[in-house]
Amino acid sequence: MKILATLLLAFSAGLAQAALPAVASTTAGAMLLREVGGSAVSVVTLAPPDRDVHTLQVKPSMMQALRRARLLVAVGAELESGWLPLAANSAANPAILPGQKGYFEIAAQVALIGREAADRSRGDVHPAGNPHVQMDPLRMAEAGLALAERLAQLDPAHAADFRANAQRFQKDVQARLPQWQQQLAGVPGVLLYHRDADYLMDRFKVPVLGYVEVLPGVPPTAAHLAQLVNQLKGRRGVILHTNFQSGRGLDTLAQQLGWPNIALPLDPPANADGAAYLALIGQWVQAIAAGKA
Ligand SMILES: [Zn+2]
Repeated sequence: MKILATLLLAFSAGLAQAALPAVASTTAGAMLLREVGGSAVSVVTLAPPDRDVHTLQVKPSMMQALRRARLLVAVGAELESGWLPLAANSAANPAILPGQKGYFEIAAQVALIGREAADRSRGDVHPAGNPHVQMDPLRMAEAGLALAERLAQLDPAHAADFRANAQRFQKDVQARLPQWQQQLAGVPGVLLYHRDADYLMDRFKVPVLGYVEVLPGVPPTAAHLAQLVNQLKGRRGVILHTNFQSGRGLDTLAQQLGWPNIALPLDPPANADGAAYLALIGQWVQAIAAGKA
């Protein structure tokens, strides 16, 4: 009898310690899961941090991870519409499909910008509003609080930890704001390749002077580049783009405007925690401030 009781105790302790298997579509989502879930959640990330999440391909390893997951954290707003629904539907795990407790969208937790400007008929890849919410640390903190509630539903035993973790992350974000505001005071503005850092610019009231793309997902034309040079010549600014955005357009613009041309990661590194994410935002802040020189 005593042996049985000991065994039962060991078994239930083992159950309590088993981390909740979760999948994040991006490294930003994975960061939020790690930050809020702590050791009660084990995280697999589908998209590498250095790739354009708009245009990823489904891989068998994605289905394997999704099959075992109890929670899928997507960015949403159609960012992953080219591959994530296909991967999730092929995983034979209805618990993580949209509408279920096991499906969580970051973009659905916060107010989106760019909804009114969308023009799907011309190839705009942001028809549901701008999906790149990971560039606003305050929206990410807000999504973190919502994620804590979802995790609390899936694993009630750790509910208090999830809520405390999400609140701590929000405080960490808020603590960084004054320094970033100071660094960004008086910056002339940025020229972005894609509308992928709009949330950061919006948050700190940094002027966006233009976009290298004609529309989100529609590559630049010679006429569009000439128009940008015309509009911006003689002004100060900085060109910011991500590592996977390149092309002659950027070099031409940098040369003709005489502006710094800086490549930055759009998502935090694999296995990033909250601190690594805030370091990435700090990197962008520093790059924006380079336009002052
Ligand atoms: Zn986009």
